[in-house]
Amino acid sequence: MKAISVLGSTGSIGTQTLQIAEEFPEQFKIVALTAGKNLDLVIKQIETHQPEVVSLADDSLLPELSRRINNLNEDSKIFKKPLLMAGAEGLNTAAAWGSADLVVTGIVGCAGLLPTLAAIEAGKDLALANKETLIAAGPVVIPALKKSGSRLLPADSEHSAIFQCLQGTPWADNARLSTGVPTPGFKSIQLTASGGAFRDWKAEDLVKATVEDATSHPNWSMGKKITVDSATLMNKGLEVIEAHYLFGLSYDQIEIIIHPQSIIHSMVELDDSSVLAQLGWPDMKLPILYCLSWPSRLKTSWPRLKLTEIGNLTFKEPDTKKYPCMELAYSAGKLGGTMPAVLNAANEKAVELFLEERFKFIDIPKVIEAICEKHKCDLNLNPSLSEILEIDNWAREEVLDYSEKKITKMQF
Ligand code: NDP
Ligand code: MG
Repeated sequence: MKAISVLGSTGSIGTQTLQIAEEFPEQFKIVALTAGKNLDLVIKQIETHQPEVVSLADDSLLPELSRRINNLNEDSKIFKKPLLMAGAEGLNTAAAWGSADLVVTGIVGCAGLLPTLAAIEAGKDLALANKETLIAAGPVVIPALKKSGSRLLPADSEHSAIFQCLQGTPWADNARLSTGVPTPGFKSIQLTASGGAFRDWKAEDLVKATVEDATSHPNWSMGKKITVDSATLMNKGLEVIEAHYLFGLSYDQIEIIIHPQSIIHSMVELDDSSVLAQLGWPDMKLPILYCLSWPSRLKTSWPRLKLTEIGNLTFKEPDTKKYPCMELAYSAGKLGGTMPAVLNAANEKAVELFLEERFKFIDIPKVIEAICEKHKCDLNLNPSLSEILEIDNWAREEVLDYSEKKITKMQF
């Protein structure tokens, strides 16, 4: 029985993790949950999973949570009241929770950084969904992993595909995972991308892209932020940096390839020219389950892949002019140090403002490029955690400034 702490239990990754735990009650038990604001859902999750600790982002919701849990207790719907916490302290406590063997990081954005570090310091293995943490703070996260011996198992479907391809091969050395040490025998990896919401749009039409357009993903059902990241292809750019840290690859060894059917989840090309791929329906439950069950595999009753039903698998080069975010991510990754943190924070803030309809879709890459350019003269190649947090804050303020200036310009 593996005990699991789920950070971001009310989101897309979090709810799918809990579904897996319900499906495999003999294998997994949930000991810690953290959520943002979705009180109704977290109450249901507490009733179903009976965790030992629950934390909310904001302490203003704690009295209401406590009252509703007392009601459940009186109705004998929960056996033991969980410890209730909130804010950064609660998040870090749940991440480092004593009885947890594995922490699923399903929080969105850089808000996941401190709890991820708390889990690593406590020696927990992690199922990494929250890629923004690794991108912003690779220079801090990788040494912390080496020190604690925690393993970062990739929950992102592409990185899970590569991880799965490597199992059982002479190149597999799971101890090397996310230590920054290059994997020998790798020629390159190919990360597949569906092409996102605008894959069939002409570049000149993107000026008209609305929030509704950008949050309708053709293949995957995910949270809003990552769906917009898929539409700009920044998600793939972030995944390039994620792969660099996870597998110790240089940026020249990481390619992006458009594969509209999202059946091949990524590929590894080895030195002898052999290519290994992992296939499956576009469903995050499989890569999450693999993190939870690794190194074993569990038997599921999930729909089997039927290639004859799909018929064709197609591939093409990504259009870098239509999707400038990919190149921005490669450049930031190659520069290293604080630059990926700036790229990530600028992107998070720009997407947030776009979702609030205060920013145009086509302005997202423009603002990120401008802010990364501005940061070049202050680039810090070996940042500490506090320097990363400071630069993250700076980049967000810059996006806000940019959007306010744009609005003023539009008004006059
Ligand atoms: P969602 O938006 O669906 O869920 C985010 C979760 O984080 C929710 O539980 C939310 O709580 C919580 N949360 C949000 N902000 C905060 C905060 N400041 N403090 C504490 N908790 C917070 O996101 P996804 O599940 O789609 O994505 C999660 C991560 O996984 C992202 O980093 C994404 O890139 C990555 N990922 C997601 C995939 C997917 O299929 N969804 C695929 C691959 C990677 P609440 O809702 O209660 O407010
Ligand atoms: Mg992915």
